[in-house]
Amino acid sequence: MPHHQMKHATLFKLFVITSCAFATASGYAQHIEIQLQGQRFAQHQAASPQQSVLAVPSTLNIKLGQHTQFKQVSSTLYPGEIEFRFLTLGDAQGARVYDLLGWRAGLEADTLDGKSARELRAEAFFFDPQLLLSTAKDIQVMDTPTELQAQYQFQTFIDQASRPATMVIDKQTRTVVSARSANLSYLYSSNTQGEQKSPMLTVKLGENIVAQWNSVKLSPLAANSTTEFVAPTGYQEKSAAGALRVENLGANTYRINGSASGYHMHFVVGERSIAVFDAPIFPNEMAQIKKLIDASAPGKAISHIIFSHTHRDHIGGSAQLVQEETKIWGGKDAKQAIQRQLGDTLNAISTEVTAEQSIDLGGRIIRVIPAPSSHASDMLIAYDAESKTLFQGDFFMMPEVGPAPVGFPVNRELQEKLTSVAIQPERIVSVHGRVGTWQDLEQTVLRFVQQFNAKSSTP
Ligand SMILES: [Zn+2]
Repeated sequence: MPHHQMKHATLFKLFVITSCAFATASGYAQHIEIQLQGQRFAQHQAASPQQSVLAVPSTLNIKLGQHTQFKQVSSTLYPGEIEFRFLTLGDAQGARVYDLLGWRAGLEADTLDGKSARELRAEAFFFDPQLLLSTAKDIQVMDTPTELQAQYQFQTFIDQASRPATMVIDKQTRTVVSARSANLSYLYSSNTQGEQKSPMLTVKLGENIVAQWNSVKLSPLAANSTTEFVAPTGYQEKSAAGALRVENLGANTYRINGSASGYHMHFVVGERSIAVFDAPIFPNEMAQIKKLIDASAPGKAISHIIFSHTHRDHIGGSAQLVQEETKIWGGKDAKQAIQRQLGDTLNAISTEVTAEQSIDLGGRIIRVIPAPSSHASDMLIAYDAESKTLFQGDFFMMPEVGPAPVGFPVNRELQEKLTSVAIQPERIVSVHGRVGTWQDLEQTVLRFVQQFNAKSSTP
């Protein structure tokens, strides 16, 4: 639907086009389950540097309970079978987010304020056109472009988060064909398989498709299902990040902690220069981080930035770190992703490492080893034998708070790679999560194998 044509349309008289059939449906809307299956689209997260957009297999399950109670379980599956699975539970006053797999946020539950909670809940109503129409408040007719008037009627309304929104009604079928609120637009269609016609939904942010739900199922939720909305136990309030600071891991190996994004960055200082491992995006914090690096290594320059892989969250902050003599090292084909994301200047100082190489920082040798994985084909790992620290990205993560989680196939890939190059690190660090150990890695792999075996032995 040409929703952009609505921008210049003006509101005029009140005209109720909604079907009476939905007028009594608002009670129904409070006890409803919505199940979506399809894919989300992520920029700069693909398994191959050649590819800019990744289709992420996703599911979303939403339950709308009494009053404004809601529950949402989302699952997204990234390359390397890395699954994000989060539970959000709350109402119009606020919500909490729980990491059900315990590897990303661990036991720390995040809090959503009232506004974010209301907006998240409100989005659920956009997932089904009938639900949207039956619950939309203050519907008013607006100008419909002349060429579309025969078939469509444009309308404004107020959504469940009290935001102004618009929808396009097919005059003949009296159904919503598209809707928009904030920056998101929703396009309703259907998927025909044989005799079966099932609803489909495309979600766009501006002109970009962010999600394609190939299956949208609505079902009533039992009115007495109060246990649905009980918070899981064992979680704790997310701890404050604290001030932006440097942690000395020993032997001139450092870690940046306390960033607003929760990302970490690492660097090793030799007699001559500094090597940085991954450069995540730190909005508004990079100037201070540069000062912290400078204070840890006075007068020394960053000679190398090593990219564990070229996913956006691992390289997006590089431009602000690069100095005159800085070289960037990435894995096989990394330059394509560097060119695309970081541009000519940074690509010009980038090299692809396709066989093991060493960096001499002055009395300090760092091994840089290609380790293509199912998460990213351009993975590199780096090892500093002096501090026994392994630098890696997304191969293995420990949450900031919580036990070693059940692992993913990539954890085992890392373990096998390290064994093959005879590295047994004391600590394993990454942009995400706390400092892990070799034992933590073994534990996650063990738990992964146990879960896999348990699943395959169940008939
Ligand atoms: Zn990644």
